[in-house]
Amino acid sequence: MKNTYNLKGGCACGEVKYTINEKPLFTQACHCKDCKILTGSSFVINSSILDNSLDIKGELLKGELIAGSGKKATVYFCKKCGVYIYADYETAVKRLTIRTKTFENPDMFPPQVHIFTKEKDPWINLSKDQNCYEEMYDPKKEWPEESIKKYKEYLGKK
Ligand SMILES: [Zn+2]
Ligand SMILES: [Zn+2]
Repeated sequence: MKNTYNLKGGCACGEVKYTINEKPLFTQACHCKDCKILTGSSFVINSSILDNSLDIKGELLKGELIAGSGKKATVYFCKKCGVYIYADYETAVKRLTIRTKTFENPDMFPPQVHIFTKEKDPWINLSKDQNCYEEMYDPKKEWPEESIKKYKEYLGKK
């Protein structure tokens, strides 16, 4: 009864399906070189969620990589079709980073910031009303108050 939030998503083949039962904290587009390699495209869109809000079914493959921060990230793919679903970054305590475009309604979550735009492909023209950062952004400045509060409570800091 306590939680009615219900955001569904999954991979391309249907093996992996998930429900997120808490509103994502934040959504960002990253234009860094690593994300280009990871996606095989010009940028990635990721949403940050609380690690207890993901209810996932289906067989996953686990990978490991070193993130831009130099810290470890464990990444999870559908075992059958190989779609990258989410990552657990060592630096994102009690949060998971999920691929926004695997949501059933990803358009509800446009990027709230664009980061590492200094590595952005030159033919992508972001309009002035996009919130752009040359490198990393400060979550304390950009996250909605609601998300900061929720995350702090979850960490038990209050
Ligand atoms: Zn799949
Ligand atoms: Zn990146």
